Amino acid sequence: MDRAVVDHRGPELPEVTLEAVERLKHVFRTETGSIAMWAGSGTGAWEAAIVNTLRPGERALAFNNGIFAEKFSEVARRFGVVVDEVDMRWGDAVAPDRVAGHLRPEHAAVLIVHNETSTGVTTDVGGIRAAIDSTGHDPLLLVDTVSSLGSIDFRFDDWRVDVALTGSQKGLMLPPGMAFVCVSPRALERSREVDTPRSFYDWGPVIAAMQTGYFPATPPTLELYGLREALRMLEEEGLDNVYARHTRLAEGVRQAVQAWDLTLLCTDLARCSNSLTAVAVDGIDADAVLREGEAHLHLSLGAGLGRLKGRAFRIGHLGALNELEVIATLGGVELALNLAGEPVELGSGVAAAMRYWQQAGW
Ligand code: PLP
Repeated sequence: MDRAVVDHRGPELPEVTLEAVERLKHVFRTETGSIAMWAGSGTGAWEAAIVNTLRPGERALAFNNGIFAEKFSEVARRFGVVVDEVDMRWGDAVAPDRVAGHLRPEHAAVLIVHNETSTGVTTDVGGIRAAIDSTGHDPLLLVDTVSSLGSIDFRFDDWRVDVALTGSQKGLMLPPGMAFVCVSPRALERSREVDTPRSFYDWGPVIAAMQTGYFPATPPTLELYGLREALRMLEEEGLDNVYARHTRLAEGVRQAVQAWDLTLLCTDLARCSNSLTAVAVDGIDADAVLREGEAHLHLSLGAGLGRLKGRAFRIGHLGALNELEVIATLGGVELALNLAGEPVELGSGVAAAMRYWQQAGW
């Protein structure tokens, strides 16, 4: 990325774009999906997913299991979609049988966040696909993969997802700045019939232009070079190895939380996120942990969001990361917890994580 800016209408860009598109398809695990990308972020990708597939007045089914699920529904509502939003405990995954139980023939789409970043919970999208199929209804399946793609196994074709959306700044290891969608042939077809007002996030012209390696508007050219490199890195390591690394690092973090005698927001261990861990605290202000970490250790933790403000903090462990970096992070969290008034035993979490990795072997 650290290079002179190229002319986005010049001869150099197409090979970068076209390689990135092919590699991105591989990360989404799709042969049939079309990729569109913009200067933007996850929020823009939500908008693209909605305005291209749903009309004002149509109904969608959604599950509020965290702030990002809530915001995804809110974007749909802003465009006139009637969202039947099932309220849930923040910390639970969306259970497939709940989807089957709430799905009605009038639902044109189901909105799911694969990995809820505010709670550290991963929903079983394959299970949800099977549950939808069991009802005999056929809504579009719109999936937010902002904090899962490139970190947690995701299968666009196998799970017959219609739109998967993401941003550049998480598993793709890039700075913020880009929004991506992967679109099924069915969703592409539907976007041609749906006349919801849209302009910048109309994916039709973007997908058409990108076949040639160009864009209808100015793309973030330098970030595209970063994207190509990040995707090469993921393939060099091998997607399965990348997911195994994240599982291993995440399990080390969960062992540390247990050793501190603190509580994971995600109570179902099978659904705990491998890209971040949300830790509940009681009796201290969780934001104080962030403040102490930032002030004394240059440690950047995630805050409790929305309903969880002050009651939880989040440890990110996605992207380019290894055991040594997690050990440093866990040590920093231990110090920050103590400074904030939660007297966890120094070294206990670090030791628990290291013991786990030692026993798991390499
Ligand atoms: N969806 C999820 C799961 C997220 O974690 C985020 C941001 O963290 C978003 C959507 C919104 O993305 P952005 O902040 O890139 O607009």
